[in-house]
Amino acid sequence: MTDTLIDRRDLAFQLYEVLDTESLIPRDRFSEHNKDTFDAVIETADKMAREEFATHNSAADKDEPRFEDGQVKMLPQVKKAFDAYSEAGFIAGRYDYELGGMQLPESVMAACNGFFTAANPGTAGYPFLTTAAANLIRIFGNGQQQATFLPHMLTGRFTGTMALTEPHAGSSLADIRTSATPTEDGHYLIKGAKIYISGGEQSLTENIVHMVLAKIKGAPAGVKGISLFIVPKFRVDAEGNPEERNGVSLAGLIHKMGYRGTTSTALSFGDDAPCHGYLVGEPHQGLKYMFQMMNEARLGVGFGAAVIGYRGYMHSLEYAKDRLQGRKPSEKNPDSPQVPIIEHADVRRMLLAQKAYSEGGLALCLYGARLVDDQNTHPDEQKRVEAGKLLDLLTPVMKAWPSEYGPKANDLAIQVYGGAGYTREYPVEQCWRDNRLNPIHEGTNGIQALDLLGRKIWQDQSHGLQLLMQEMQVDLEAATTERCQQWALSLSETLQQAVKVTQSLGKSLMGGNNPDAVLANASCYLHLFGHITVAWMWLRQANVAAKALESASSNEERNFYNGKLQAAQYFFHWELPTVAQDLVLLRNQDDTCLNMQADWF
Ligand SMILES: Cc1cc2nc3c(=O)[nH]c(=O)nc-3n(C[C@H](O)[C@H](O)[C@H](O)COP(=O)(O)OP(=O)(O)OC[C@H]3O[C@@H](n4cnc5c(N)ncnc54)[C@H](O)[C@@H]3O)c2cc1C
Repeated sequence: MTDTLIDRRDLAFQLYEVLDTESLIPRDRFSEHNKDTFDAVIETADKMAREEFATHNSAADKDEPRFEDGQVKMLPQVKKAFDAYSEAGFIAGRYDYELGGMQLPESVMAACNGFFTAANPGTAGYPFLTTAAANLIRIFGNGQQQATFLPHMLTGRFTGTMALTEPHAGSSLADIRTSATPTEDGHYLIKGAKIYISGGEQSLTENIVHMVLAKIKGAPAGVKGISLFIVPKFRVDAEGNPEERNGVSLAGLIHKMGYRGTTSTALSFGDDAPCHGYLVGEPHQGLKYMFQMMNEARLGVGFGAAVIGYRGYMHSLEYAKDRLQGRKPSEKNPDSPQVPIIEHADVRRMLLAQKAYSEGGLALCLYGARLVDDQNTHPDEQKRVEAGKLLDLLTPVMKAWPSEYGPKANDLAIQVYGGAGYTREYPVEQCWRDNRLNPIHEGTNGIQALDLLGRKIWQDQSHGLQLLMQEMQVDLEAATTERCQQWALSLSETLQQAVKVTQSLGKSLMGGNNPDAVLANASCYLHLFGHITVAWMWLRQANVAAKALESASSNEERNFYNGKLQAAQYFFHWELPTVAQDLVLLRNQDDTCLNMQADWF
């Protein structure tokens, strides 16, 4: 079992050689940072993740939280890790110095959080949700709400949750029923039920701040009638100190296949006692607020999926170097020593696929984090706007591609271990179970596909798509070695076919054809678009690696860059061609699934 969570050499390559993260340093917001401070914080995250988080990953999976004597019982190591994360300042890592933050770029914070998720996704869930909930209050809350809740959330005294889903309304938030009734005291009375709320009850902190979607009585129907409320477990005084219990209570803990360390809860609001909620921003704008935060949350899910995939890859790579089994087909002497399984081409296939998926997913999500940095801090306003458009377009891909291929990587890690992979004595089956959540939450991948093909592609007269193609063009032209040029050519040809098919789908959609027919194969489109985007990520890495290889001075460095080039080759030879089927199905607007009848099953 390895304790490597994410290969530091790879992370440095992606951050500094591919993304040029140092170019952020001259920006005002990061002026007090330099490469040493970035590296120091990454080093702290890696070390803390290994020492405080990874050490109880398996224990928390085996001994999941229980509800006993009116309390949620959790392993004490979870609180120790949560406190260490908070005390190191990671919850507020991105925030202004005035808020106690470190003003770190998203690129660096995303990398740091990658270590915690790779080490222990269940425990990492609590601080990550707290950052997300605090972000909503920081951006959309009023001054009093910010002063009351933020200091306690950012220091880890309180945690936060995101309470959207209801038993009858998951993908379709338009249909939520939780209600909010205004009172003369300025607060609202919340009534309803939520389900699957992560971290909805725990024994880590004094208070929990739920960010709840609800409909104010008389609100418009559908998503236009949804508002956002702060609902604390304990009501608070003006300084935010917890006072009496609020009427939100645990209706039950949900038992899951993975991510077991994070409590999954059914919550009831206003059943046993009045439940006070405080409106955030304007009435009926709640889903808009949530969606403004979604880009980052969805990027976080994609990132998590990529690094859990990465973790399984690291485990199986080490195992494959140690495990002796069989001989090469060309070795006829049964007395010759057995070889480590990494010597078998089929095992290398499984390792290369994992490398291509997890390093490709990591590259994609780090690129997304860089877009967040550019959107927030690029000195040129036009570049800020463009980064926002690219981020918006790519969000469904950044959420869905790693969450599809991260579990695939984990599946291959199990296969590399053989029988051992299927047992609970080895860590890779837990990676797969944990990662299997990622295609489901934060909008299922089916919903991401509809978002991409039904909305994002056409937004702003497809300006985002044009920007993406310009970005790709830069790297297509930067391919100088023969290998990279071959890959650039196949990417460019696939891209042209994808553009054609996009135009024909656009014509059908705009021409008033039945949108059900066009969107029926949205998942194929997401696969096509995702594979093209990740192929681009591999070309970017290959271009840098090919150049660096020319001047690499040690064997270690040459091995590293050759590994990058071979993984790029794997992606271009084995993966990109799989989109041919998507192109055919999309071009023909294949109606097999659309026309299947429920009664025919
Ligand atoms: C472990 C875990 C943690 C979670 N944490 C939270 C949390 O903290 N806060 C929170 O609010 N929620 C949370 N969720 C809920 C999660 O976001 C939902 O499960 C998810 O949005 C899907 O909703 P659903 O489960 O109701 O599935 P459904 O919406 O019933 O979907 C079932 C299937 O139908 C498909 N489908 C649905 N509608 C369409 C459509 N229009 N077109 C095509 N296909 C469609 C879906 O893609 C899916 O395959 C969590 C869930 C889990 C399992």
